[in-house]
Amino acid sequence: MDAVVIGAGHNGLVAANVLAEHGWRVLVLEEQPAPGGAVKSGELTEPGFTSDLFSSFYPLAAASPALDAMELERFGVRWRRAPLAVAHPQPDGRCASLSLDLGETASSLERFAAGDGERWRSFYGIWEQAGSPFMDALLRPFPPLRGSARLAAALGPRGLLRFTRFALLPVRRMAEERFRGEGAAWLLAGNALHADLTPDSAGGGLFGWVLCGLGQQHGFPVPEGGAGRLIDALVARLRAHGGELVCGAPVSQVIVRGGRAVGVRLHDGSDVSAARGVLATTLAPTLFHELVGDQHLPRDFVADLDHFQLDNGTLKVDWSLDAPISWIAEDAHRAGTLHVADGIDALTRTTAQLTRGMIPDEPFLVMGQYASVDPTRMPAGREVAWAYTHLPQRVRGDAGPDGLTGAWDERETEAFVARIEAQIERRAPGFRSLIRRRHVFTPAAFEAANRNLRGGALNGGTAQVHQQVVFRPVPGLARPATPLRGLWLAGASAHPGGGVHGAAGFNAARAVLHAWRLGAVERAVRQAPLASAR
Ligand SMILES: Cc1cc2nc3c(=O)[nH]c(=O)nc-3n(C[C@H](O)[C@H](O)[C@H](O)COP(=O)(O)OP(=O)(O)OC[C@H]3O[C@@H](n4cnc5c(N)ncnc54)[C@H](O)[C@@H]3O)c2cc1C
Repeated sequence: MDAVVIGAGHNGLVAANVLAEHGWRVLVLEEQPAPGGAVKSGELTEPGFTSDLFSSFYPLAAASPALDAMELERFGVRWRRAPLAVAHPQPDGRCASLSLDLGETASSLERFAAGDGERWRSFYGIWEQAGSPFMDALLRPFPPLRGSARLAAALGPRGLLRFTRFALLPVRRMAEERFRGEGAAWLLAGNALHADLTPDSAGGGLFGWVLCGLGQQHGFPVPEGGAGRLIDALVARLRAHGGELVCGAPVSQVIVRGGRAVGVRLHDGSDVSAARGVLATTLAPTLFHELVGDQHLPRDFVADLDHFQLDNGTLKVDWSLDAPISWIAEDAHRAGTLHVADGIDALTRTTAQLTRGMIPDEPFLVMGQYASVDPTRMPAGREVAWAYTHLPQRVRGDAGPDGLTGAWDERETEAFVARIEAQIERRAPGFRSLIRRRHVFTPAAFEAANRNLRGGALNGGTAQVHQQVVFRPVPGLARPATPLRGLWLAGASAHPGGGVHGAAGFNAARAVLHAWRLGAVERAVRQAPLASAR
């Protein structure tokens, strides 16, 4: 093989596609029986009801140059969008809504404070001005010369400075500076907390702004028929370009010879050689400590890796329901994604519990429902829904009354699922009576389904500023190259991190191609005098 890719998540498949379309012989090796990583769908609860097992909505994909280049639509993906990207409903019927229609979002926020509608329009103006160059800078290879130049041109020198300050704001402060009512704070904070940020962490506002900007512009799209359609398309495209995929093939070792990665060893003892490069989409610590071995790596790199921080754990419940959820808040019926939390103070309270290692007593939920977005996923009149919440990686206690320890045996799982369902029931009375079947992913179940989801970490490592850009996965240059020649990091542990955008895989593949071309030029130059001497 020219290249071996470890892991058939979307990043691995994007990387393999890029190499295959350049004529390389590429083999993707996937440990699990099916490709997809954290992008999979199937009949999780009962026949006829399609659930997304992990990731579900794809605003980052909508803005991603990497996935754009994959021409997913040509390979069968049809996007569907709910009229409201996100709703944040409350038990008293109030609801903050992020609509694809700017006027509707503005009206929703105006109900929280006079003038907030207009304030949203001007807040969204920042996105219209800076959003595209910012996403360019974020998702294209580092250093982001083109994106930064575009950002500077759009904002000017003082504007750039103001934007840098804006980007560092905690989400609570961003909402306080820009709005008077609670609604906008709910939208921004709810979006920021998809990652392991708190309302008070530096840079959290930027996450909220990005997801709200994307939601306002593109909605939160989902592939018709389930998340797995994205993977079907990537696999079909890969095969069309001659790339190969083998599932049920765990890689246990990166083979190092002469200070260079030259192939991989599979769990069954067989070797696959990779003449030009090995691209890995595993968690960074797994790759370096377990598959490569510290003896092949610089000491300071290994020491830095010991400071790598996982993101919070996750517990997710999927339901098949007899009917769409009976939300009190009207708007919530038209949203694909929902945030369930009392408000920004409640989010600070919950995230403080997580920081202290406590299992939250009132978990914050990110939730999805599909009847109004993609009715192909369930029988007529029924509903498919899910909710996930964050958990501490190391549980020290339970902030609730059930004495949970993080063992997640049957009793603990049932008690915690009851907490989750109670949060929804307060906003949609009768929710529980709609439940036909449920499926629960505990942190251990996540890890068994995909070893990258260690302890239920869904982001490939924390999304906090100290592990972003040049600090991801360790202080360096935010590039996919690793200290071991011939080995490249191509998954969510690499810049630009978690989420379904394919940038980590795409950028790694481009870097490998570039390095190979440079190497070819060097080899040609080295051989030239010999040739002329002959
Ligand atoms: C519950 C959940 C909800 C999420 N929601 C969203 C969302 O709505 N929108 C969004 O954009 N993002 C979401 N994310 C995040 C997003 O799904 C991930 O960041 C992204 O899918 C990571 O892609 P990847 O290709 O880098 O890694 P993965 O998808 O983890 O793929 C890596 C693959 O490598 C395989 N592998 C690992 N080790 C080996 C080995 N030694 N040998 C062979 N194979 C190996 C794994 O089995 C896996 O298939 C969510 C994640 C989770 C878990």
